[in-house]
Amino acid sequence: RSADARAVAAWLGDELRQAGYAPTTLAIPEVDDQVDVVAVYGPRDDLAPTIVVTAHYDHLGEVDGTLYPGADDNASGVAVALGVARDLAARRDVAGRVVFVFTGAEELGLYGARAYAEAPAYPLGQTRVVINLDMVGRRFFEGTADQDATLGAVGLPGDATLLELGEAAAAAAGVALVAVSAELLTLVGEDWRSDDWVFRDRGVPAVHLSTGLNPDYHQPTDTPDRVSRAQLERVARFLRGWVSRLAAR
Ligand SMILES: [Zn+2]
Repeated sequence: RSADARAVAAWLGDELRQAGYAPTTLAIPEVDDQVDVVAVYGPRDDLAPTIVVTAHYDHLGEVDGTLYPGADDNASGVAVALGVARDLAARRDVAGRVVFVFTGAEELGLYGARAYAEAPAYPLGQTRVVINLDMVGRRFFEGTADQDATLGAVGLPGDATLLELGEAAAAAAGVALVAVSAELLTLVGEDWRSDDWVFRDRGVPAVHLSTGLNPDYHQPTDTPDRVSRAQLERVARFLRGWVSRLAAR
């Protein structure tokens, strides 16, 4: 429901302001009752290299009287992005710029990401990487591989420096990375599944971090009790370490 989406966007804005940011909202032309919430860490000059972190905050809402909570999809990604944003602002020990984009209308067709790509806070051409967090709080592919402390990283093999620094950050955080090429997903018809494709399609390096599908995907049973706090903390430590390493290059 649009009232719920507006309430979440307002909550995100409040949390970011409390962390010391000056968040802005960006309209989504195709979906007039949802917005993106954008917060910038670091220098404001146009030439600084930019890391963009995205996490969609929308989900399915209420369908025929049944609530779809979307705890893993994608409160998990929002929690990790917000946690890292708070930590960066508190410690201010990273020299580069990190733009946090909490996207709306992902489930309707990646519209929040498209809106940001059309009107980015800083030129997409200066974006080092877009790191998209979408479903990061469960065991890795619970219905099949079912591995703990593991994270998929779609698009990571496409860039040697991203891969090297990502693997170092993952090892330090106790996360096993499963790096999958974006081309592989295209071949099996699984592209355009999340916001990162909007940026990859425009030639911007983009990585989708995810623990993958689980039996509660897009079900009313995607509830907070099934999301692992330990996994969220690991992913946040990994992202924090990766961003620090990238900004230092
Ligand atoms: Zn999602």
